[in-house]
Amino acid sequence: LLQLYAPLNFLGFVYREIKHSLADMEKMFNLMGQNAEVKDIEAAQILNTQSASIRFDHVDFSYESNRQILHAVSFDIPAGKTVAVVGSSGAGKSTLSRLLYRFYDVSQGGISINGVDVRKLNQISLRAHIGIVPQDTVLFNDSIYYNIAYGQPSANRNEVIQAAKSAHIYEFIQSLPEGFDTLVGERGLKLSGGEKQRVAIARTILKNPPILIFDEATSALDSRTEKAIQAELKEISTNRTTLIVAHRLSTIAEADEILVMEQGEIVERGRHRDLLELGAHYARMWQLQQGDEEVSID
Ligand code: ATP
Repeated sequence: LLQLYAPLNFLGFVYREIKHSLADMEKMFNLMGQNAEVKDIEAAQILNTQSASIRFDHVDFSYESNRQILHAVSFDIPAGKTVAVVGSSGAGKSTLSRLLYRFYDVSQGGISINGVDVRKLNQISLRAHIGIVPQDTVLFNDSIYYNIAYGQPSANRNEVIQAAKSAHIYEFIQSLPEGFDTLVGERGLKLSGGEKQRVAIARTILKNPPILIFDEATSALDSRTEKAIQAELKEISTNRTTLIVAHRLSTIAEADEILVMEQGEIVERGRHRDLLELGAHYARMWQLQQGDEEVSID
């Protein structure tokens, strides 16, 4: 019986590990709205570029056939530039980022990168070009080191440390009794919203993608953390083609273009100053947020 114990124990370990990884993957896919229906076409093109320009061309989209979410949405993000999307809750802002990552395919119109429709691109190569800092970062039940290195599994320890430093989370990690080996996630240390977002920023710095999607947290962070995250965002978005889904207008005053969405349509677009001068939707949102920086426009 004793002879059986070691292999059985090992099998138990393997089983737990697999279950754990599957649970993590499932959680991640659920959270990100993963859709297994999206498949590569035969001989899909491999995307391979350091400079990506993005075009949404008359995009219509519905999650369910009886309810259209996006209506003829068109915009460009030239390579290295930043476009920010604002608008009330449910307007369809995050849907834009899900479509760009190709969790879903558009119903009408198209999304292209450097002129190639994303439906013609190999999905793995497409996703390798995009770094996402989501609203709510999924942490694996593993060490904080693993959670950062996940952005680029071949990275060495020095690179992981550098990424943590750039994301301004290194000092926090050093202050933990077990440092980088500290277990996080549901079964470990719970991180705050700002700390989790920094882990995602560190992951993205390691991944070093030409395209960045930043989905700002809906819930307000304390204003110091928020200012710090904004500064980090500015740093990592430099020279990357960036789509920001914003809830606080202070995040996006410097964006190259701001899109204001209402019920799946772009109702206003331009730079911060122009939109303030226009004195319509954006200007009203801006006024509402003045005086209380922490109020979300939702
Ligand atoms: P928020 O500011 O609250 O994050 P948003 O503008 O990002 O909102 P989306 O998440 O893009 O809004 O959602 C747009 C609409 O699509 C909403 O009405 C939402 O209920 C619906 N929706 C989102 N995800 C799904 C889904 N997986 N299945 C069906 N409907 C969905």
